[in-house]
Amino acid sequence: MLLPAFALHQPTSVDGAVALAARLAPDFDWVAGGTDLLPNYKQRLNARPHVVSLARVAELRDLSTSRIGALVRLRDLERDPAIRATFPALADAASQIASTTLRESGTVGGNLCLDNRCYYFNQSELWRDAKGGCLKVAGPICLVVPTQKENICWAAYSGDLAPVLQVLGASVGIAGPDGRRTVPLVEFFQPDGIRRNVLARGELLTHVEIPETAKAYRAGYRKLRQRDTIDFPILGVAAAVHLEGDTVRDVRVSLTAVDTIPVWIDLADERDKRMSLAWIERIAARVLERVQPVKNVSLRPGYRRKMAAVLTRRLLVALTT
Ligand SMILES: Cc1cc2nc3c(=O)[nH]c(=O)nc-3n(C[C@H](O)[C@H](O)[C@H](O)COP(=O)(O)OP(=O)(O)OC[C@H]3O[C@@H](n4cnc5c(N)ncnc54)[C@H](O)[C@@H]3O)c2cc1C
Repeated sequence: MLLPAFALHQPTSVDGAVALAARLAPDFDWVAGGTDLLPNYKQRLNARPHVVSLARVAELRDLSTSRIGALVRLRDLERDPAIRATFPALADAASQIASTTLRESGTVGGNLCLDNRCYYFNQSELWRDAKGGCLKVAGPICLVVPTQKENICWAAYSGDLAPVLQVLGASVGIAGPDGRRTVPLVEFFQPDGIRRNVLARGELLTHVEIPETAKAYRAGYRKLRQRDTIDFPILGVAAAVHLEGDTVRDVRVSLTAVDTIPVWIDLADERDKRMSLAWIERIAARVLERVQPVKNVSLRPGYRRKMAAVLTRRLLVALTT
């Protein structure tokens, strides 16, 4: 399948990229590794006339345990000795994304800014035309929840890194025409499969910051997908616990691919508790209560919901024993 025609721009600095974006907005997309954007372009999913590549912006390539540049490739994150030693859950989640070949090109920034996915959206032009299109591409309504009053897009956020970075307490750096800012990752995503996140047109994600306090946590990630060799998650659960002996000082859980944004579970009342199987069951029950998937991927919502509790339970057992 051929790409549609577009003008490719290749700035070499963040300031240059932002200035270019200000001139081209709203008729452009950023591209990093292109493993998400370009397949979508080939399917004629909202392709734009200008594409601004970040590949030559060297300042986006930092990689340390406290700062990960947006242009760091997933394969480098997965293999970095310091990341593997300090945040094994992050390296593990990265290693489960797509395939080795795709991870050689795919980046951390592209993963966090991944377009939301849906059974009705990620289809060929012919397939979509037969349905009359959906809200996210040329149609009047969201076909996942056609009767809703709000008429928002219910495509699923399906990135693997976001829940792990959220439980580690990460923030993201953003650069745009109005300067630079930092946003906690739990506040970065927006509950609409078209809007997706807080980035305004012309803003780009520059890096991820992981606080020093994350080192006190044991974290992990469990992923459910149809084919372990390549598929996107249909469910992913990340958890982090801060243990002092038998006492759980803090617990954090976040899930991906079950809603339009990563789902952060508020567990403030489960802090400072003695670790026990009953405590784990309470948290699994909270996940079951909070997670309400809709029919936007090929597997049934009821199955994904039950598996969210199952994977949470398995992960917390592994992290606390
Ligand atoms: C077959 C297949 C399987 C896949 N499986 C998985 C999977 O299991 N898990 C998973 O998480 N992903 C999966 N992916 C998606 C993708 O490979 C990864 O998410 C990858 O990390 C995307 O990074 P990229 O640099 O290629 O993004 P790109 O395609 O370059 O960009 C993705 C989106 O982010 C925007 N963007 C990129 N960088 C920035 C930035 N710095 N600031 C602002 N916006 C930006 C782009 O405009 C675009 O909208 C899969 C893709 C394919 C084709």
